[in-house]
Amino acid sequence: MKIGINPGHDTGGHVGAVNPAKGVDEGHIVLQIGILLQEILQQKGHEVVFIQQDNLRGEAPYFNYKDSVVGFLNAQHTDVNISLHCNAWQGADEDAEGTETFYYSTNEKGLALAADIQTELVRLGFANRGVKHGDGQSFVRDTTATSVLVEIGFIRNSHDVNLLLNHQKEIAEAIARAIK
Ligand SMILES: [Zn+2]
Repeated sequence: MKIGINPGHDTGGHVGAVNPAKGVDEGHIVLQIGILLQEILQQKGHEVVFIQQDNLRGEAPYFNYKDSVVGFLNAQHTDVNISLHCNAWQGADEDAEGTETFYYSTNEKGLALAADIQTELVRLGFANRGVKHGDGQSFVRDTTATSVLVEIGFIRNSHDVNLLLNHQKEIAEAIARAIK
């Protein structure tokens, strides 16, 4: 299979959600997990294309999200695309935790993949927030391949951020198992 990996945001000016107490941000965490996922999938014989929005490892010709990330993946004719994110909650840090995975509502393969990703990540200790329709998200709506967007965990929740920082290999392996 040809698989697109899109760690969300970037590692420069638009890092996404942050955990100031830990000094970590979403863009770097999902990049690290994405690189591990790429290695695992390549070892399994898959072809991987990789793009984060700041062009760190991708070949995006434009910075605009739809033209760059979505357009790049469509031009690559991937079979499956995975976008990796960390969630954030505006309220008290410990009030929100867990994994949720978005898919396009009419894509049954997307639903199956999202459900498998949920199962695998919940096994690692993340709370199960379920699979959700991502029809408002360009990544799952505008890509031609089956695409899912994973909010792996909440970056300011102490339980989740421990997993996000210290169990990146297990997270990557869990997502790779779901893709299989
Ligand atoms: Zn994000």
